[in-house]
Amino acid sequence: MTNASAPRANGRFYNPWGTRDWPSVVTTVPFFARKAWTSIVGRSGGAQLVPFDPDALEKNPSVTWIGHSTMLVRMAGVTFLTDPIFSDRASPLSFAGPERVVSPGVPIGELPPIDFALISHDHYDHTDLPSVEALAKRNVPFIVPLGLGDLVRSVGGTAQELDWWQTADLGNVKVHCVPAQHFAGRSLTDGDTRLWAGWVVEGEDRKFYHAGDTGYFPGFKEIGEKFGPIDLAAIPIGAYSPASIMRFVHLDPVEAIQAGLDVRAKRILGMHFGTFDLTDEPLDEPPRWFHAEARRRKLGPRRAWTFDVGETRSW
Ligand code: ZN
Ligand code: ZN
Repeated sequence: MTNASAPRANGRFYNPWGTRDWPSVVTTVPFFARKAWTSIVGRSGGAQLVPFDPDALEKNPSVTWIGHSTMLVRMAGVTFLTDPIFSDRASPLSFAGPERVVSPGVPIGELPPIDFALISHDHYDHTDLPSVEALAKRNVPFIVPLGLGDLVRSVGGTAQELDWWQTADLGNVKVHCVPAQHFAGRSLTDGDTRLWAGWVVEGEDRKFYHAGDTGYFPGFKEIGEKFGPIDLAAIPIGAYSPASIMRFVHLDPVEAIQAGLDVRAKRILGMHFGTFDLTDEPLDEPPRWFHAEARRRKLGPRRAWTFDVGETRSW
């Protein structure tokens, strides 16, 4: 499996480690009804917003949580964004779909100069075309998984597409596309036509990993064997409930900690929670569970991080 390109058939990618058991309508219909309801009435429990520190953003190395899976990373003298979303909804519609419950930690107009942006997959909470367009206007180039370049180009951007285990050499850093266990699609017809992935960014003395969206899968150990130790691993910890629908494609905090250990992370940074109301668990449950699990695994506060939105730390 290691170093194998992403498998595909009839123009659609698939996960090589098994397939998702899609639960029956008895499970899915009430779930979608609950989410339609919470998208109207809203829920509390979003992440805390703190004022960002413009000087800290430019420290090398640093990482700032802008919200959800959007990280502003500075390392090896370059600055990049992951899965940039600054919009009020993660949705094709301006009036419906998961609403943002906390403002971006850094407004898009107050970002420092960005050298490049990474996108993990085409879901609306990770590929936000208004944000891509705004960054493209500032000549920010994108690195994306296979097939996703069309979305970036549709709003005037440039994109380099990579398959799993391929590398883009950007000089100061190498960007490695690594597997994830997830799915893709933005409409009823384009399911799994664009690849999903994670990213390892390798500088001279430091490595950063962004896991994208993923379930727990054997690929974490392969990533650890190839690229470990990882200095900082940003791993999704939210969107796990109900497990009957989410388990194959999202991590819960227990699995997220294990994933961090599998990739041989020195520090695990929880993300993908507290920003958009996507699933059933309380919005503030993922970080509480994540830190409880970190204590149970004896990782200590220096090895398991979650941030307030807008917070920056050195790593
Ligand atoms: Zn997703
Ligand atoms: Zn997501």
